[in-house]
Amino acid sequence: MPRFRQILDTMTAYKPGKAVTSADGRSYKLSSNESPYGPLPSVVEAIAEAAKEINRYPDPGAVKLTEAIARRFDVPAEHIALGAGSVTVAQQLFETVGEPGVEVVYAWRSFEAYPLLADLAGVTSVQVPLAGEDHDLDAMADAITDRTRMVFVCNPNNPTGTAVRRAELEAFLDRVPEDVLVVLDEAYREYVRDEDVPDGLTLYRDRPNVCVLRTFSKAYGLAGLRVGYLVGHEPVATAVRKTIVPFAVNHLAQVAAIASLEAEEELLERVERVVKERTRVREALIADGWKVPPTEANFVWLRLGERTLDFPVPCAEEGVAVRPFAGEGVRVSIGTPEENDAFLTAARNFRR
Ligand SMILES: *Cc1c(COP(=O)(O)O)cnc(C)c1O
Repeated sequence: MPRFRQILDTMTAYKPGKAVTSADGRSYKLSSNESPYGPLPSVVEAIAEAAKEINRYPDPGAVKLTEAIARRFDVPAEHIALGAGSVTVAQQLFETVGEPGVEVVYAWRSFEAYPLLADLAGVTSVQVPLAGEDHDLDAMADAITDRTRMVFVCNPNNPTGTAVRRAELEAFLDRVPEDVLVVLDEAYREYVRDEDVPDGLTLYRDRPNVCVLRTFSKAYGLAGLRVGYLVGHEPVATAVRKTIVPFAVNHLAQVAAIASLEAEEELLERVERVVKERTRVREALIADGWKVPPTEANFVWLRLGERTLDFPVPCAEEGVAVRPFAGEGVRVSIGTPEENDAFLTAARNFRR
């Protein structure tokens, strides 16, 4: 019997959202915070053209995509590190700090990948409970010790949707020691409408220990291609680049990401539609008597506690796949109006 790392026996595996189908054949996947819209024709065309070149390895440095991101966000190319999805960039970050005895602090509940990546990297997770549905930044700062090398702030938070505002985030960053890396995970940045929620790219510039994670998976609709990136100061970006598995960001992903930046206006119109639907869905739920925390992301959070695992049942009857977190609550992505209506029907059926 081959011997494996002990942590594999106790680690909780990542549970992806599963599709469900109603009796009349409807299937709406609102479990993974994807864009409900198919890829833009211009992006599909770029991918089709690039497909003719896939006998070759991709550009390992992803130079063109790096430059396109640098131009778009007005950051130096040296500050960018790409990965096969931002969850892989997060994994690379864990690799850069990971050593036995090292602690990484993050809120809980937050993005499910954090504990998994911490376990894999052999570091100790320090989970700081949310205050209500929000990050408790004071408690997170208090949780930092001389063993802490990294802190994640998921903004807006997955799965609660709540966002940390500028003043509290700046006060927190002022408290974090300079040798602790703060990662602002902004997978849902494009959906933020509260002007008090800071763009991490405005915060990292004069703070060498702050970096930002972004992805093409959500607002840009490229979840299936796996491409995300970090923006941080040169020592951070350089360390992350060292941990990449060679050629991890494939050619089609690089080309599609560039094409998506070129088509950004069209993509952001779609984001705006989702934001409008988010307001409609949340207001409809509240009118029906639900408590729904304000959300700056493309999903809503229902804290159902012990009833959590009952909720997917009426959802499945409507063909709606949602993401339950046993004993805590259910996260439901915002989709097209039709998908959202199916979810609202399911939520009404649950309450009855
Ligand atoms: C979806 C998500 C990501 C990353 O997704 P990738 O597809 O790996 O880019 C990162 N962080 C959070 C909080 C997410 O919800």
